[in-house]
Amino acid sequence: MTNQPNHTCLPRSRRRMRLLRRGLFLLLALLLALQGCIQPDSVDEPPDTGDDTGKTFLYQTMQYEYTTDVSAWLQYIVTGMDPQYLILANKTNPLNANDIPETVRLTCATNPYNQRDETLNSCAANALYAMLAEMAADGVTDIFVTSSYRSYDRQQSLFYGYIDEEMSKNPALTREQAEQLVLTYSARPGTSEHQTGLCVDFGTNAEYSEAGEVLTEYFEETAAFRWLIENCYRFGFILRYPEDKVGVTGYTYEPWHYRFVGREAATEIMLRGLCLEEFLNELN
Ligand SMILES: [Zn+2]
Repeated sequence: MTNQPNHTCLPRSRRRMRLLRRGLFLLLALLLALQGCIQPDSVDEPPDTGDDTGKTFLYQTMQYEYTTDVSAWLQYIVTGMDPQYLILANKTNPLNANDIPETVRLTCATNPYNQRDETLNSCAANALYAMLAEMAADGVTDIFVTSSYRSYDRQQSLFYGYIDEEMSKNPALTREQAEQLVLTYSARPGTSEHQTGLCVDFGTNAEYSEAGEVLTEYFEETAAFRWLIENCYRFGFILRYPEDKVGVTGYTYEPWHYRFVGREAATEIMLRGLCLEEFLNELN
């Protein structure tokens, strides 16, 4: 037994102070070590590639310029490739009867020759308003929406109505033959993209006075079409059924039909000459 003091014999308060100091020192050392681990990564962080697969996209290097002040609309135009705006509805990916999107009534110009309420997904509607404002600022004012959201039920009654019409026009046709004929100009229920609430068909007065109706190839001759084909991607819209993609989309060329997908996907699709099916294949 010696009188040599040892740590365990220190008065309790001093021992507590020493333990506290040692704890603080260890904590500080740990924090410094962690900082050393994190810092080099954050300094050399690669640019955001938009997804986890390391793919790079055209939109990441794009400078978007607008004639009008679109700052209040950007939240609708720039959707960050949100899957809800990349829904695919075509002949091989039909929607169900109970796929019913939330829509709002459009407040822009609609077909004056066939007055009815047009409704659309609210984000797509706001992006559409921004696009129409920009078009007007660029001097293109002859344009209206002639078709937008269409329910499964409405498409069903249109489709079967057309079959009945074809059969009464030509009684020699079997029901199956009439159906094949109708499929060349109308979509089977569930396969119309209009059921997504994300697309619109445009018409113009010039087209109506020239062709006597809208949704004609004459739309291609209008100033509205020339503007849309150049600019729609800047507002998140794409020409959905291009002339050179009939074999991929399964639909004939429709210069009047524009689909909202958000600015990122629209940039890839329009500037790289893809269609939605090709882009989604590339993405997945
Ligand atoms: Zn359409």
